[in-house]
Amino acid sequence: MTQTLFKHAATGVLSLEAYSPGMPIEELQRRLGVSSAIKLASNENPLGCSPRVREALAAAVSGGDMARYPDGSGHRLKQKLAAMHGIEPERITLGNGSNDIIELLGRVFLGPDRAAMFSAHAFAVYPIITQAQCARAVVVPALPASADQPYGHDLDGFARALAAHPDVALIFIANPNNPTGTWLDAARIEAFLSQVPDDVIVALDEAYYEYMAPAIRGDSRAWLDRHPNLVVFRTFSKTYGLASLRAGYSLSSAALADLLNRVRQPFNNNSLALLAAEIALGDQDFVEASVELNTRERERLTKALRARELNVLPSQANFLAIDFGRDAKPVHQGLLERGVIVRPLASYDLPRFLRVSIGTAAENDRFLEALGEVLAA
Ligand SMILES: *Cc1c(COP(=O)(O)O)cnc(C)c1O
Repeated sequence: MTQTLFKHAATGVLSLEAYSPGMPIEELQRRLGVSSAIKLASNENPLGCSPRVREALAAAVSGGDMARYPDGSGHRLKQKLAAMHGIEPERITLGNGSNDIIELLGRVFLGPDRAAMFSAHAFAVYPIITQAQCARAVVVPALPASADQPYGHDLDGFARALAAHPDVALIFIANPNNPTGTWLDAARIEAFLSQVPDDVIVALDEAYYEYMAPAIRGDSRAWLDRHPNLVVFRTFSKTYGLASLRAGYSLSSAALADLLNRVRQPFNNNSLALLAAEIALGDQDFVEASVELNTRERERLTKALRARELNVLPSQANFLAIDFGRDAKPVHQGLLERGVIVRPLASYDLPRFLRVSIGTAAENDRFLEALGEVLAA
């Protein structure tokens, strides 16, 4: 029945599996009747967002004119981002979350006769958009478990795959990567960029950039001037704590931004998201406090888990990937029953792993306690 009904649907879409997000707290309450659950499943900021954003949103909701379309050019937010990055506003593209940027890139650069390249165990949205565009996926095997960056991106492998697959139009690199938390040496990324031909677009996903230690962050802003085929994107969903509002952006050449703009929905950012992002940028103290908490708790949690002989991947993000050495499903289930929501990684081809977002100290303690019970059971 659906076979004839959807005869003309894109073949990529018909065989696609939808993205499965972290379980919302309400769903756990509905499913298992567990109350006062905590969610450490979607890499959200446990401190919420800047109090200044709350104030500005409250004022905008009570006094704003909801009947008006938002500023489709995002003028004010772009001005702030331009000043922050030292870049012309014409080189900025705003997205409904940075997922929107990934989709815009796919729509512009991918199609049935082209391929996208990304690492195994990389962010799930890359294969989804690739398949939706009926493009081919060139999946580069990840680094081995014994590497410094276990299961991380292998840029030498990327370079070899690129030489073997001339139909690659778009390369996704996540630094740090989700769900592994692994990262890339800045010098290595720069060297790779010089190996990529100009007609292949490199999309550098820096969703967790702020969480990286300053000493190992790359200056991707500077790379843009030397590599017109580079597009770098960041988000307000993670460190800025605005995941619910959907705002992200990319930096690129003005010509590439112009292409993205042609397929962008005219009002892809709503007024409240634009306002929240603009105000959030002005509160770097909040960002600093968030990063500081994350760094401290990431280290503490890593130590506590390793003390239990668990294999924790190194991470420069706001989450840890833990290898349980066996199917992690029962551990996931046990944690759910104790009101702790984490992320299984079977869909990332890492069935022995769970990913836990770094929460507040109290949330992390609760996770450790629940995990102790589950592992002892
Ligand atoms: C969370 C995340 C994003 C950002 O998602 P938004 O759409 O901005 O909420 C992008 N890339 C990676 C790797 C992520 O983990």
